[in-house]
Amino acid sequence: MAERRTADPFQHLIALSPRDTANVINAAPIGICITDANGNFEMVNPAYCAFYGYEKEELIGQHFTLVVPKAYRDQLSQMHDTFIAGDDIELRQEWEVRCKNGETRTIIAEAARVHGDDGAPRKVTYVVDITSRKRLEEQLKQANERLDYLAHHDQLTGIFNRRAGLQRLEQELERCKRYGNELSVMMYDLDKFKHINDTYGHSVGDEVLQEMTQLMAKEIRSPDFLVRLGGEEFLIIMPEVSAASAYQAAERLRQCVAETSMTEHALPVTLSAGVASYRESSSTQLLDRADKAMYAAKQAGRNRAMMAEEVS
Ligand code: GH3
Ligand code: MG
Ligand code: MG
Repeated sequence: MAERRTADPFQHLIALSPRDTANVINAAPIGICITDANGNFEMVNPAYCAFYGYEKEELIGQHFTLVVPKAYRDQLSQMHDTFIAGDDIELRQEWEVRCKNGETRTIIAEAARVHGDDGAPRKVTYVVDITSRKRLEEQLKQANERLDYLAHHDQLTGIFNRRAGLQRLEQELERCKRYGNELSVMMYDLDKFKHINDTYGHSVGDEVLQEMTQLMAKEIRSPDFLVRLGGEEFLIIMPEVSAASAYQAAERLRQCVAETSMTEHALPVTLSAGVASYRESSSTQLLDRADKAMYAAKQAGRNRAMMAEEVS
């Protein structure tokens, strides 16, 4: 019967000569360094040097914070001391590091504590470059933020679009229901706007919409929420404003627009507005009442504001 031997998967590693071990470390595709108890480089492998752009001779004997941006140097130095002292710290961490050419890169560093033949503790650090993954993540984040912005803003005027406006209106109505707050809305539409487009062209019409929006944004109170509902129709949500105050505000804004000539053609622009206030109503009912009041303002000759109470 054949002699039964205990299989040791690491036997071949134990059998490695110091030269073989050095070959393994030198051929490793990830950066490996050993720092002594003071934090000075004792060993750096070729991948480590290549990543940071230093020659081995430039690193050996130097403090490891040479590759650490100034902002984290003290923190990392202290962590190194703690690690060497044997206290538990996170072994796997993400860091920004600085290469010789000044470039900042992102790494994941994993550390292990080892004791040399002299008995002194050392730190072995394994470095994986995750810079491109980080950049991709950042680009993805920015793209998502941009999509989120586009989903909620009107491209021409930069103010909130219908979707964002209706969402906000629902939130404000919730508050009214819960806390009994007042809330008013002013819906407005530019008068005879088609005439401006037909006479001066669509791009001048666009400029009118932009200038008028800037003026409104400047004139409303900060809690008010300005929305482009579509075309030349807008909404201002006025939290905690009574019907009477909202009407006064609408009149003031109407007058302000009427007194300002717009674009290089110095065009007179007017608007008609409908004001409605919360009365245990849904957003649809509230907007419907504001719309009816606005329609009444148009019927009454334009360039005026009307309250929903006056027309219903
Ligand atoms: P009223 O006083 O009854 O509101 O008349 P009006 O001419 O303003 O109303 P109408 O609905 O007939 O015309 C609205 C015009 O607004 C027609 C449309 O081409 C124009 N319009 C809508 N959106 C835009 C835009 O983004 N830019 C420009 N330049 N024009 C737009
Ligand atoms: Mg109009
Ligand atoms: Mg319109």
